[in-house]
Amino acid sequence: MWVRRLSFLFTLLLISKLHAQSPSNSSGVDLKALDPSVNPCQNFYLYACGGWKTANPIPPEYSRWGRFSELADHNQHVLRGILEDSAQHLDRSSIDRKIGTFYGSCMNEPAVDKAGYTPIQPALQQIQAIAEKSALAAELARSHNQGIDSFFRFNSTPDFDNARMTIADVDQGGLGLPDKSYYLNEKDVETREKYAAHISRMFQLIGVSPADAAAKAKAVLALETSLAKASLDRTARRNPRLLHHRMTIAELAALAPSFDLKQYFNGRQSPAFDSLNVSVPDFFKTLGAVIDATSLDDLKSYLAWNYVNHYATELSKPFVDADFDFYQHFLNGAKELQPRWKRCVQLTDRSLGDAVGQKYVEKAFPGQSKERTRQLVAIIEKQMAADIDSLTWMSAATKEQALIKLKGVTNKIGYPEKWKDYSTVSVVNDNLIADVRNAREFETHRNLNKIGKPVDRAEFGMTPPTVNAYYSPFQNNINFPAGILQPPFYKADADMAVSFGGIGGVIGHELTHGFDDQGRQFDADGNLRDWWTAKDDEEFKKRVDCIANEYSGFSPVEGVNLNGRLTLGENGADNAGIRLAFMSLMRGLEDGSISKEKLDGFTPQQRFFIGYAQIWCQNERPESLKKLARTDPHSPGEFRVDGVVQNVAEFASAFGCMEGQPMVSANACRVW
Ligand SMILES: [Zn+2]
Repeated sequence: MWVRRLSFLFTLLLISKLHAQSPSNSSGVDLKALDPSVNPCQNFYLYACGGWKTANPIPPEYSRWGRFSELADHNQHVLRGILEDSAQHLDRSSIDRKIGTFYGSCMNEPAVDKAGYTPIQPALQQIQAIAEKSALAAELARSHNQGIDSFFRFNSTPDFDNARMTIADVDQGGLGLPDKSYYLNEKDVETREKYAAHISRMFQLIGVSPADAAAKAKAVLALETSLAKASLDRTARRNPRLLHHRMTIAELAALAPSFDLKQYFNGRQSPAFDSLNVSVPDFFKTLGAVIDATSLDDLKSYLAWNYVNHYATELSKPFVDADFDFYQHFLNGAKELQPRWKRCVQLTDRSLGDAVGQKYVEKAFPGQSKERTRQLVAIIEKQMAADIDSLTWMSAATKEQALIKLKGVTNKIGYPEKWKDYSTVSVVNDNLIADVRNAREFETHRNLNKIGKPVDRAEFGMTPPTVNAYYSPFQNNINFPAGILQPPFYKADADMAVSFGGIGGVIGHELTHGFDDQGRQFDADGNLRDWWTAKDDEEFKKRVDCIANEYSGFSPVEGVNLNGRLTLGENGADNAGIRLAFMSLMRGLEDGSISKEKLDGFTPQQRFFIGYAQIWCQNERPESLKKLARTDPHSPGEFRVDGVVQNVAEFASAFGCMEGQPMVSANACRVW
């Protein structure tokens, strides 16, 4: 699925909590967030965010809490108002009817609880009725149509060799733990035990005896462990060349001969095609062997587990609680379940995002925000061109190619030009599982129907209220949903020094993704094509090694270090993004468009760096830090700040930091 190959600003968790607006002041620096007792040259993150951290403990229903969470929470309150209003005015428009009914079904907790697991019983009976392995493919197609990732994934994706066209893609999948390493590492025994206990608990909730449930859980864990062993790890997956394998259908079939591909593709109702991308061929080989070696009963247990797990959060209370206990509490450290209205807002946004998004944009995204953001993007892009020109390590030939790529970058701001039409998605009163299933089937069919067609580059990969941004290497475009173009990230009348540090840094970050260790392998048109001279390639690698080593040295929680290779693209984007934004600030100060005066006692340069740091203020539970260190390509906020500023000489001059202090690296890294 192409969405997996986007570079986000931030990995979203389920987040929110009542929003307290920061007090406004003359500079836009959040003075209350500062901790003036900390020396900015010792730990800039704590200096900029210490006050905020103390004043904002993590609410019990979250595993981490930061500026992104505050804004996401604020947006959820806006969405709640929209959805409650729609639920009360169903006859006003077809959109009101659809999202109001959906949200209403979700909010009718007594009906959901009363139904228990009866809404998924027919599907479970169908799985139970499978009489031979040859019928597996048809059942798998039914599950996949609902977005359930048993065994593997089949989706559409832009063609690596011709990114304007969409092809079919199969990829690894089928794991219930957050990363393959959880199945294999010695130290994760407890996690595996808890996971097996969780699977067993879920089986008992659908009427299986405790002894049988435990046996089924054991079989599921064994099967998933086999799949995990054959999966490519997430760091390796950052290299697109390791995922690029064009094959004919016959070649794919030969990898797993006993799996009935034809029956499967028929069940998916995908358009016809002759060849496709097979992201991880070895995974498919193993999949064939696993299906051959596993008993039909165990395969059925695995399918049933995936089905229940997929719908757990939309079923009755015992399922919701069990799911929370393992995934939110044990793995992420959350203390309480989020209130139902938040879960229902998120579910409606995930299921009918463009319908909810239209209303959100009307309410929360004023017209001038779009134009103003466009202007900021243009300023940052101009600095990127100047930056590329100024590099001493890059040859003229590669620079020329880089500038062509930069010129090819397009941007999308706020919301899609054309909204998805959900008129064929049936939403009925008080049947939440049916509503969710219909929405997911609509989405998976919409995705598969793209196969063989030109890529629609106008489509947005995030819903409008999302507090995030992304770069797409296949489309060479940067995308900013309306949800992030809000205070504190974006204020129309804000001090420009703080704005360049905040939203300017975000724009620079996304733009740099086109040139990070992953993005640089794609050309201006989004094709996977090497445009680097051998010497420049070598020089680039030397420089990113510096960043990888720097971040591998950071420890977010005792006994755990960041993975500098997993986080390389994001850290590289942070480092270059801040440089581009700072260059923009300096240009503004030189030409007089930005005032040089001190505000709140801070120079524009100081306000810039504080503005940057303060978007990353956050508190995080140790469970979440441990999990994210293994799975998240982004570093935690603390290192997104301190890891960057210690590489930037202009930061040291702005705060008068001296050599030898922690925020002045003796081995400063710089790529772009
Ligand atoms: Zn990013």
